[in-house]
Amino acid sequence: LPVVAIVGRPNVGKSTVFNRIARQRISIVEDTPGVTRDRIYAHGSWLNHEFSMIDTGGIDFTDQPFVDQIRMQAEIAIEEADVIIFMVSAREGVTDIDERVAQILYRAKKDVVLAVNKTDNPEQRQDIYDFYSLGFGDPIPVSGAQGTGIGDLLDAVVTKFPLEKDNEEDDTIKFSLIGRPNVGKSSLVNAILGEHRVIVSDIEGTTRDAIDTQFTDDDGQKFTMIDTAGIRKRGKVWESTEKYAVMRAQSAIDRSDVVLFVIDGEEGLREQDKKVAGYAHEAGRAIIIVVNKWDLVKKDTYSMQKFTDKLRSELQYLDYAPIVFVSALTKQRLNVLPDMIKTVSVNQQRRVQSSVLNDVLLRAVAITPTPTVKGKRLRVYYLTQVAIKPPTFVAFVNDPELFHFSYQRFLINQLRDSFDFSGTPIHLIPRQRK
Ligand code: GDP
Repeated sequence: LPVVAIVGRPNVGKSTVFNRIARQRISIVEDTPGVTRDRIYAHGSWLNHEFSMIDTGGIDFTDQPFVDQIRMQAEIAIEEADVIIFMVSAREGVTDIDERVAQILYRAKKDVVLAVNKTDNPEQRQDIYDFYSLGFGDPIPVSGAQGTGIGDLLDAVVTKFPLEKDNEEDDTIKFSLIGRPNVGKSSLVNAILGEHRVIVSDIEGTTRDAIDTQFTDDDGQKFTMIDTAGIRKRGKVWESTEKYAVMRAQSAIDRSDVVLFVIDGEEGLREQDKKVAGYAHEAGRAIIIVVNKWDLVKKDTYSMQKFTDKLRSELQYLDYAPIVFVSALTKQRLNVLPDMIKTVSVNQQRRVQSSVLNDVLLRAVAITPTPTVKGKRLRVYYLTQVAIKPPTFVAFVNDPELFHFSYQRFLINQLRDSFDFSGTPIHLIPRQRK
């Protein structure tokens, strides 16, 4: 996906505009406990374009001198983004720091769209002409607070996207290994590649923040492995921050169909693990939980079950993700990974006909009648699948307000009982029948 970054000095309203752009998309996914709300990375969509977005202002460098903070944020944007939204504020006009950011952006050969935020009323629209002096062409007036001008801004952004490549690689399943440092990602990458025929490594043009390697399994299925683990230790300060690592993982997740979420079997789950897993879930990626270093765990009869129970209770929203216990060191059970990846990838692309869906719906409503809220009964008229990757269903109802999360969850579980959706999230979108 094309990457859009928002840069600019503090307080120009980057996060407000970021949330405006992201909101649409965020609101359609189910509410996910444990997912961080201070997002610096999100999906956006506009017209028929999808993209990912970075709010560099959300990357905390407060241990750095102010000027360095701004510079590092701009550098990250330059490095990561296809299109940069350079944000300034109509309220303060052109400031020294704006000019400094502009200097950094000139040097990057990236497309820049200049957005003038806080243009809340018509008089201020005159003030935007000052911003031509920054040298990035037509300034686009927006108001993050009021939500105006965002469409014009996105129009300008999407016209600068690189043209999409032909989908000749469609038969390859893209997957990434995600997890904290030291859980054994690099070891797994090497072990997996050691067992398979590698076609190409380090595929050109994709090395921005990961190394892509293509290989086949015994059945001739092609895989592209996106590996963020071992690279980019160039020593810039910002490259070693945790937020940056999280961001890099998120960008790999965005490019993946399937995410192998790697956990250290000896240490168990940590906070940082949950953040990235929550992101993969929200993004609708198929997920396999890979518990590595299982060779180090002292086993009694119940340890696998115990570990599973604990994981399930800590990651309830990932109840659909299969769990596999492996060792990169002894190569135990690594051979099952390709088949598991294939299975969840198929499930993620499963399509169910509306007639069949509505049989499931009828049966579901017979088991558990729709709830009545304040005297008004929810009616779910019909279900239809509108997308795959992940399977996405629209439920036509009499009143979306009545369609509480618990009943949505119930319907999703009924779908899971009826069809094999293991490994993939399911999105359900309530819509009012006109
Ligand atoms: P990464 O940061 O996630 O890429 O982790 P590495 O692959 O660099 O592994 C971190 C450390 O864990 C290294 O010392 C590895 O040798 C060790 N390690 C990785 N996988 C296993 C495993 O399955 N069993 C054992 N015993 N050690 C492992």
